[in-house]
Formats: sequence, structure tokens, C-alpha cells
Amino acid sequence: MPRVASTEAVLTVDLPAIVANWKDLAARGAPGAVAGVVKADGYGLGAAEVGRALRAAGCRHFFVAQLQEGIDLRAAIGPGPMIAVLGGFRPGEDDDAGLVPVMNSLGDVAAHAGAGRASGVARRAILHVDTGMARLGLDAGELARLSADHGLLAGVDLLYVMTHLACADEASSPMNAAQAARFADACEGLPAARRCFANSSGMFLGPDFASDLSRPGCALYGINPTPDRPNPMRQVVRLDAPVLQVREIPAGIPVGYGATWAAGRPSRVATVAVGYADGYLRSLSSRAVADFRGRPVPLIGRVSMDLTTFDVTDLPEIAAGDRLTLIGGAGCSPDEVAARAGTIGYEVLTSLGARYVRDYLRG
Ligand SMILES: *Cc1c(COP(=O)(O)O)cnc(C)c1O
Repeated sequence: MPRVASTEAVLTVDLPAIVANWKDLAARGAPGAVAGVVKADGYGLGAAEVGRALRAAGCRHFFVAQLQEGIDLRAAIGPGPMIAVLGGFRPGEDDDAGLVPVMNSLGDVAAHAGAGRASGVARRAILHVDTGMARLGLDAGELARLSADHGLLAGVDLLYVMTHLACADEASSPMNAAQAARFADACEGLPAARRCFANSSGMFLGPDFASDLSRPGCALYGINPTPDRPNPMRQVVRLDAPVLQVREIPAGIPVGYGATWAAGRPSRVATVAVGYADGYLRSLSSRAVADFRGRPVPLIGRVSMDLTTFDVTDLPEIAAGDRLTLIGGAGCSPDEVAARAGTIGYEVLTSLGARYVRDYLRG
């Protein structure tokens, strides 16, 4: 446990829970391999820590979004595992980190194939075909050109062909089967290569979504990959924040910026040392609940930059120095916080602030 001042909030990250989630997913993805997606600093939880824990558990494939994330991850986990960069990079830009670019266009293919031919050493790369996101990846016209001329890939060591699902978290969406069919068609026209398909939710859609390599991210971190069913994953994060002060206010007194909430009875207000600058979203104002030893504590008024206020009138035992669980307690899982903020668990996690003391449980 790192040193924690009485006024500091603590973000606890349960690495064994992440590993257990990965092992569950690895069993689900078998006989295909299962990667760890650790982009955006491991969904805000720390890519180096998460990467090392997954690597020690046997994970051999990692995905990041950006080049620098890949370089940093390589430094953290050492040589060996594949680290693929979803946003791609130009030949040579990864220095000596040995990263694998995702080729998202025919221009990317030409760049890496050309570098491979020029050096006489085929460049390891992943080819991304778009089947329904219209975001990155070869479009239908580019796919047709590549299918008609496999020579465009000469100089590339094609590790995988991948695509990405747009609606995997909506099991009943017709997009899912349509994308699976388009992906199968695309692979038919391309040189034989292993396939890389499902994200977390896609891994729960059935055998049509199995592949040689799955790419789960959110489920590793405890976000529910099956939103219409109970969460099969273990919880991973907990945010415990200290009460700086408890004050008594008479009925009628407003609390916080904008005076948006006023006491309807004589009340006790606990002021907690976390705000929107810590990623505790301002849209949680008057909506969230914290957890104190299993009891709900309602957020009152606006979340401000560094402070948030809670109504503890019905919890007279709470005093300055106590800690409320703002994320990861009863009624405030990342998904529940997200729902109250009008967003998704991914944004709650990737917004987690830099000011928290981070305590990594290692089991
Ligand atoms: C973020 C991402 C993933 C992981 O998605 P989750 O929904 O977090 O499992 C997989 N593939 C691509 C291309 C991504 O951008």
C-alpha cells in the first residue's frame, strides 16, 4: 500500500481480478488466442501494470491505440509478446520496439510492403478491413483492389486480418451477423491469414464470432460485456475518497455552485475531496450515489472541480476522515456510475484522474 495522506483519494486496482477476467475470456476464446487491449493507459488503470500482470499470466498479444503507447508498453513488458498499434504507424517509427502496425488503408499497405521489399525483410503487419464502422480499415473499393492484386502485399508478413464490430454490445442487432458475413467474404478474397475479430462483447455472441485472436478490452476491467444480462466479469476498480468536513445546515440552505440543491430538512453535508478534475464527471451532479459500508449516500448539488458534496443526514456515524466509495461499491460500479452520468463505463474508467493515489493489489 503506498503512503496515503488523510486528504487523498485512493484508487485501488485489483490486478488478480484483471488476470482472472482474462483467464475467463481466454477459456471462452479457445482454441483461438485472446489478446489484452490496453489502449488509453489500460482503460485508465495503468497499461504498464496491467500489461505486466497479463504477460505473467500468459497473454502473448496486446493491442494499443497509439504508437507511443506501444513503445511504452514494450519498455514495461519486455520483448516477446506481439504489441499491435491500432492506429498504425509509418515503417521505422517504432524504433526498436518491435511493434506491429495495423494497416488501415491501401496507402498503409503500400508503405509497409514497400519498406519490406526495399529491406528484403517482410514487415509483420495486421490488415484491418472495415465491415461496418466507416472509421478505419480498408473500404469496399480498397478491399476489391487488394483482392484482385495480392501482389500489393508482397513485402508484408500478414499476421492477421481483422475487423471491428459496431454493435457487439447489442446482441440482437442485425449489424453483428452482417459484419460476420462481410468479414468472412473479405477473408475469402485475401491471401490466407489468421483472423482477428471479436472485442469483449463480440466474444459473447456465439461461434460465428470466434477467431484465431480475440481482442477484449473493457471486460478485462470489469465492464459488463453483456449489458442486457448480469455482469459475468469480476469488479476491478474501487475509488475511496476522504470526507474533508461534515457540516450541519438548517432547512432551506443551498449547497454548492448554482445553488441547485437546497436542504429540505436540517441536514448534514459531507464534502469529499474528489471532483470533475479527477474524472468524477460533472454530469453526476445530484444523480450519483456513493457507498458507505453498504449503505447508499446520495450526491447533492453540483460536482465541482476538486470537491463533491453528499447528504449524510441519515448516516450520523460519518465524520471527517471517513472514506466514501465513489466507484466500485454497492450501487456505484463503473457501469452504474456511467448510467447515472449518461455515458458508458469505458468513459468513467478512461477519465479516472491523475491525482488519485493508486494502490495495485497483486494477490
Ligand atoms: C477498443 C477496441 C477493442 C476492445 O474493445 P472492448 O469493447 O473494450 O472489448 C477491440 N478492437 C478495437 C479495434 C478497438 O478499438
